[in-house]
Amino acid sequence: MSNKTENRKRTKADYRMRTHLIHGNYQSKKWDYNHHVVPPMSSSATYRLSSAQRGAQGFFEFASESTDFVKHVPIYIYDRLEEPTRGMLEENLAYAEGGEMCVTFATGMAAISAVLGMLCENGHEIVAHQILYGCTYSLVTHWLPRYGIQTKFVDLQNLEALKKAITHKTRVVYFETPVNPVLSLIDIAAVRKVVEAINQDRPPEKHIKIVVDNTFATPYCQRPIALGADFSVHSLTKDIGGFGTDMGGAVIGPQKFYSQLMLYRKDFGGVLSPKNAWNILVYGLPTLSTRMINQQKTAHKVARFLQEHPKVARMVYPGLESHPQFELAKRQMVNYEGKFSPGAMIYFVLKSGANISASERGGKFIDYVADHAYSITLAVSLGQIKTLIESPYSMTHSALPEEEKLELGMEPGGIRLALGLEDWHDLIEDLREALEQV
Ligand SMILES: *Cc1c(COP(=O)(O)O)cnc(C)c1O
Repeated sequence: MSNKTENRKRTKADYRMRTHLIHGNYQSKKWDYNHHVVPPMSSSATYRLSSAQRGAQGFFEFASESTDFVKHVPIYIYDRLEEPTRGMLEENLAYAEGGEMCVTFATGMAAISAVLGMLCENGHEIVAHQILYGCTYSLVTHWLPRYGIQTKFVDLQNLEALKKAITHKTRVVYFETPVNPVLSLIDIAAVRKVVEAINQDRPPEKHIKIVVDNTFATPYCQRPIALGADFSVHSLTKDIGGFGTDMGGAVIGPQKFYSQLMLYRKDFGGVLSPKNAWNILVYGLPTLSTRMINQQKTAHKVARFLQEHPKVARMVYPGLESHPQFELAKRQMVNYEGKFSPGAMIYFVLKSGANISASERGGKFIDYVADHAYSITLAVSLGQIKTLIESPYSMTHSALPEEEKLELGMEPGGIRLALGLEDWHDLIEDLREALEQV
């Protein structure tokens, strides 16, 4: 790269993460964009090879176990194998998450199915928290059993239950924290301790890996790998993408799994489109800190408003003292400077009224918001510049059996709010008006 790099006195580590997220890697070997301020948008399904020998070398180096080849620009062959824009995004995501490597995918679900598919084979078991993102639940209950991979569900807040669920077939402990949508927390370090003790008596190839879906928190608010997870997975569709324009997913973890994941992605084919990768690389990740700081501030204001409202029965936000795991939240959810960062998701339930049940009232409230609130949109998904509201019981978590949802504290009238970047006064006014009407 340019002399500017050589002239720099401060090393990469001297800069704060907010700056890194904007400037990316010092010297990406993925692409020489010396004269570009913004990396070029690349879109090429296939790559010209100057000789058959170069083609052969490219196939040899692709997903090689050796890291020698990381030192030069990869020999690009075909988009589904490796591609520069995606490659740059992966470098930056790995750095942001505090992992050695990252492999991106077409969606969050493609990333989750890849990490589980890579770690497990016929006869293996997954131990998962009892509440999962609806499609993840569907993946491990409908599809993975076809490959002979079974999943046991336990309450991972209960470490004794975790110990009991683990057998010699267990290869993965999987969970989200904060848990979607009820926002309870799983203590990553405590799960690590349990798994570590069991792994000590196993050969490395049978070690249990901890996989954490970090989508709700984002790396800005929580870095699971530093807390003891082996892998972090993300839906880039949410806060990392940030604008709601593109889908994507990512797996971040130890370098030694890089080639396996790349080969899995090559053969199952769920690659992230370079056009989507470019948006996330250029708009999403660089603005993550700024968006999270502001969304979080708003979440605080809105959570306090809801908590004090006479029609609200229960309000869950990890940033308020009323959260039953507030101490854990303060320990586990911190930004890059170590400051408490509880995220921008809120879950709440309305009270029943004289002639109306809590769930009916919740439904009416959401419908009123959908019809009248300019600042709040009824839609699934989260982590966008627009504030989104939804009913997890009947929408995102419809795949879970009814009795289970009730048992797990997910009531039919529960409301999930994903804060965006609007002025918080307007959000509160729109919520106040809707609460007055139901
Ligand atoms: C959205 C989401 C996913 C799935 O991601 P897609 O990009 O929609 O495939 C997985 N986990 C959580 C927690 C999510 O919110």
